Amino acid sequence: MTTANTQSWNSIDEIATAVRSCTQCVLHSGRTNAVPGNGSSNAGILIIGEGPGFNEDQQGLPFVGRSGKLLNELLAAVPIARADVFITNVVKCRPPDNRDPLPDEVIACRPYLERQIELLDTRVIVTLGRHSLLRFYPEGKISKDHGKILEWEGRVLFPLYHPAAGLRNPAIKRDLQEDVLRLPEAIRESLRLSESTAKLPDPQAEPPTQQAAEAPETLETPETNGVEAQLSEPLLTSETQEEEEKETEEGDRQLGMF
Ligand code: URA
Ligand code: SF4
Repeated sequence: MTTANTQSWNSIDEIATAVRSCTQCVLHSGRTNAVPGNGSSNAGILIIGEGPGFNEDQQGLPFVGRSGKLLNELLAAVPIARADVFITNVVKCRPPDNRDPLPDEVIACRPYLERQIELLDTRVIVTLGRHSLLRFYPEGKISKDHGKILEWEGRVLFPLYHPAAGLRNPAIKRDLQEDVLRLPEAIRESLRLSESTAKLPDPQAEPPTQQAAEAPETLETPETNGVEAQLSEPLLTSETQEEEEKETEEGDRQLGMF
């Protein structure tokens, strides 16, 4: 078995091409279509599910079945358009009978997601469900961490329950509907995080004009990511600030601690 060469993928399309012909794990043998992911390559938010289901396998697109319909409704409530996010999965081929992806399949598929994260370079990553959360926080617990604004490698990590769990359980659906409304706050936290990183004193730093010219395409300034413009919510209210302070006491992975 050869190891995937992540260095050779220079664009989201190149990753998709590699995924479509990938045979790195057993899941390739049962697929109708691989599902590399879709959305804008300038997206400000990366949404990561677990793995394709029946409809996704048929169409080669992520979240196009019932879970996808609920995901669309959740995003519409924020409101965020699907065109403004990039959606993918931890494994890109459908596990048989919709079983959970196995650890060796997650490991085999990891280079694709890793490079997608690098190339898209979104300030916010939304994980859907347990497997997606565990990819970033192996010690995470979806029942405890859902709806929290966490930090991962300088980005905001915003874990949500999986929409499929919401379809099975009305209480989880209500949690999803409540949690997703904190997405604007998660985006604002990500902007604050980028600003505070940018403001760190660095004697070697180049003048700002030069920095701007050299900034990567998708991140000229946080505001040009197109996400902030999507938001109709007012800026942080005292109520959400209180919630934030409460949550900060719960654990050390809250953004408030950084
Ligand atoms: N569930 C997932 O985790 N991903 C999809 O793409 C569809 C359903
Ligand atoms: Fe390759 Fe990932 Fe599909 Fe496995 S799940 S065959 S690693 S693309």
